[in-house]
Amino acid sequence: MAVYGWIGLGNMGGPMTSNIVNAGHTVRGFDLSQRAQQLAREGGVEVVGSIKDAVSEADVVFTSLPKGDHVRSVFDGPDGIWAHAPKTALLADASTVDMATSRFCHEESAKRGYTFIDAPVSGGISGAAAGTLTFMLGGEPEAVSRGQEFVSPMAGNVIVAGGATSGIAAKIVNNMMLFINLVGVAEGSQLAESLGLDAQTFWNIANTSSAESWAQRTWYPLPGIVDSAAANNNFDATFTAELALKDVSLALEAGAETGVNLDAAQLAAQQFQKLIDEGLGKKDCSLIAKLSSPDGTV
Ligand code: NAD
Repeated sequence: MAVYGWIGLGNMGGPMTSNIVNAGHTVRGFDLSQRAQQLAREGGVEVVGSIKDAVSEADVVFTSLPKGDHVRSVFDGPDGIWAHAPKTALLADASTVDMATSRFCHEESAKRGYTFIDAPVSGGISGAAAGTLTFMLGGEPEAVSRGQEFVSPMAGNVIVAGGATSGIAAKIVNNMMLFINLVGVAEGSQLAESLGLDAQTFWNIANTSSAESWAQRTWYPLPGIVDSAAANNNFDATFTAELALKDVSLALEAGAETGVNLDAAQLAAQQFQKLIDEGLGKKDCSLIAKLSSPDGTV
């Protein structure tokens, strides 16, 4: 049985750590939010008061933090992971961050004698709770192979993406494709309505035709069509517009760095930005359907 140090016990980190505990391991977790601490405690995590206490006896240290800046500050600095984790611990970042942050974590970890892997996830909060996340691992083969064992209590699929930063690269591209698909689904749902199609009948057609996609299957933005859609629940977020913009922006940043034109991703980002400008950033990203609706409602 292993000792996990875990920083960031939020919507993802909370249920992920609970699954690790259920598999018989020890998790020492740290989070700034009292609510996250409380929920993690209920999930069996030993909640501690500092990064030092979370990591100093760990076999593996995970971070699951909002953005690159949080990850950098939690690793670096006098009270950070690099100051307190044993050199034998594998370090793994499960956050969705920019390429530069992931590169920084790999390079600085190596300089300081640590082994780091990028280990982002797909599958959302429901996948985190069910222990069925897809992990995309990037790093040296030996490190990734150690990582596979540590992620297994949380994972439905573990895919080795390749060397350093390839996991996060795959995650950024995957999510960019998802949100571009969602723009198509959102617009399609409104046009189908306006052309007088029965919503369920059209969905059945799309679901068995060439427009089939994860966004269409899971997030269809009209009420009463798919159970998992936020549309059934007043668009309370399963994935917020703010988080969607963050993820698409990571792709745009990577496109700018590499000289790849991402016009469709740019459009998707604009749609999420419009929701945020309307004060709807905490609502579900699929609410962009309202931007195509003739009367502005869904
Ligand atoms: P969240 O905001 O719910 O959780 C992040 C937690 O980090 C919060 O509880 C916050 O208090 C804590 N935190 C921030 N700074 C900290 C610090 N310095 N020290 C300790 N704790 C700190 O976010 P989430 O939904 O759990 O997502 C975590 C990461 O996983 C993000 O990078 C996100 O993009 C990615 N992700 C999220 C989903 C999803 O569906 N929510 C899916 C896949 C990947």
